[in-house]
Amino acid sequence: MGSTTALGILGGNLLPGHARADALTKAQRDRMSPDQIIAAAKRGNKRFRSGVRKNRNCLNEQKASASGQYPAAVLLSCIDSRAPAEVIMDLGLGDIFNCRIAGNIANPDILGSMEFACKLAGAKVVLVMGHTACGAIKGAIDNVKLGNLTDLLDKIEPAVQATSFSGERSSKNYAFVDAVARTNVQMTVDNIRKSSAVLAELERGGTIKITGAMYNLDTGALDFFV
Ligand SMILES: [Zn+2]
Repeated sequence: MGSTTALGILGGNLLPGHARADALTKAQRDRMSPDQIIAAAKRGNKRFRSGVRKNRNCLNEQKASASGQYPAAVLLSCIDSRAPAEVIMDLGLGDIFNCRIAGNIANPDILGSMEFACKLAGAKVVLVMGHTACGAIKGAIDNVKLGNLTDLLDKIEPAVQATSFSGERSSKNYAFVDAVARTNVQMTVDNIRKSSAVLAELERGGTIKITGAMYNLDTGALDFFV
């Protein structure tokens, strides 16, 4: 602990003059507002996109975070191998919780994980992150039936129906696939508010912010809804 390696979510810019550490401390996290955390995530994606990621020391981060964690956000993102949130937002160990499930849909276990993250562990942002060319979205559009995947895709189906689109409504039409993915993120955000009284109350009180983002596999850009 205590070396001068750059921080992850703080990006070295958010708290000018503050001593840098190798992992987010409780005091640093508690000082940040939900909007500041979202702004830091945007800056991290900008670094990733421009190819100038922080020169971090993972071993120092591991040592600094081993005795406790104070993550700033909890993410809900897809299992897609090309969309790891920590990498595309240039984050470090201990910066965020990340629930990953195909098609980034919420269920009671995931809501419970988010309630733990925010109410008990102090995270201040709930971010649902979808992405372009998502296989789970294509599967829902095609009404794929396969073992346990069938039930999961059923949870995406309402987003397929709710997406108004003037072109061809097919999994071969990437514009439609991406439009459904965006609807799915927005519906998941709404569903989190509706199905978790704990998170809805934290948001009403201004303690947390619940929002969404879409990640573009082609450009590496994250499009935040706020
Ligand atoms: Zn996906």
